[in-house]
Amino acid sequence: MASDDALAEGQGQGRKRWFGGRGSTSETPTQERESNMAPTEPGIEESVKTTDDPVVEETDDIRVEKDAVEAEPAPAPLPAPLPETLASLRARGGEQSDDEVVLPLIISIANQKGGVGKTTTAVNLGAALAELDYRVLVIDLNPQGNATTGMGISHRNVEGSIYDVIMNDAPIDDCTEPTSVKNLFVVPATIDLAGAEIELVPAFSRELKLRRALAQIAGSYDFTLIDCPPSLGLLTVNGLAASDDVIVPIQCEYYALEGLGQLLRNVALVKSNLNPALDVRGIVLTMYDARTKLAEQVEREVRAHFGAKVYRTVVPRTVRISEAPSFGQPVTVFDSTSRGALAYRELAKEVSRGATRRSG
Ligand code: ADP
Ligand code: MG
Repeated sequence: MASDDALAEGQGQGRKRWFGGRGSTSETPTQERESNMAPTEPGIEESVKTTDDPVVEETDDIRVEKDAVEAEPAPAPLPAPLPETLASLRARGGEQSDDEVVLPLIISIANQKGGVGKTTTAVNLGAALAELDYRVLVIDLNPQGNATTGMGISHRNVEGSIYDVIMNDAPIDDCTEPTSVKNLFVVPATIDLAGAEIELVPAFSRELKLRRALAQIAGSYDFTLIDCPPSLGLLTVNGLAASDDVIVPIQCEYYALEGLGQLLRNVALVKSNLNPALDVRGIVLTMYDARTKLAEQVEREVRAHFGAKVYRTVVPRTVRISEAPSFGQPVTVFDSTSRGALAYRELAKEVSRGATRRSG
């Protein structure tokens, strides 16, 4: 009942500009400001230097800090949800070490930036959790289908895909494929899914399609990892609305934090309108190149902002991780003793924290 109310509310005019798809989000003043700022964005080094500045410490907004450094343009009024989101993230900072992990868990791997390691994390964290004897389902929610191929499933052999689940109400079990890794399953994506972003717009309860589909298999998997596409459109909203938690991969590169405010605002919007249970479980630093000062600076800055929300495990940039998908294998199988495999196993331990298995 409650979710139907949320749904009705969710279909109101007010939220269309947020959830109406990729293009419409650019109508928000914040987005405009972000893109205006992009060319003059200060270097990470500058931002790091200012973290002791009392003005900076008083604020919860990453963007404000950047503005403070720049002194120009003058900071515009803050959009309401962000400071609360960041504040709540910090307030729950101790959570990672204390709170018990209760299974089953559905986790979206989300960041609207492309190439930050979402798919790599969904596949390899999934495989590492499966190695720990958890039953794991990876849902490929990206029309590119990289998680699908990365787990050794050829698009040509796919009979039912996540598109059929979302658009045609196909039973999710019928669209689930086993992988070469024991306990690891995938709901594949094909290029059809690219159309879903548009086809969903007029659909009834369009934000809750995936949530309802996953209700059919509640409790069948210990972990369900949703590999979200690089946008904040309806597919990502479906992922977030269906999830208990979000894990945000952040690439240890220049502009690492760019767009993060908008992601957190969207998480807050989905939480308040569609899915009150949603929270950010953790942030994982990916593609860490120990030879660069920049990676170290990004790590320092992200940890300064998000504290214990950031997993201790940092995924290194390694050739083996980037090679594994072309062999259709997680790196834990492709090169079981490589640094990348070890990192994802450590991450799996941090994410699962020895939680009791529900199944198998
Ligand atoms: P996203 O899903 O966020 O777009 P991907 O996981 O597809 O990002 O990663 C983008 C590219 O970077 C891919 O080619 C992937 O193989 C590569 N990559 C991801 N993580 C690593 C890593 N730790 N080391 C080396 N290459 C990586
Ligand atoms: Mg991806």
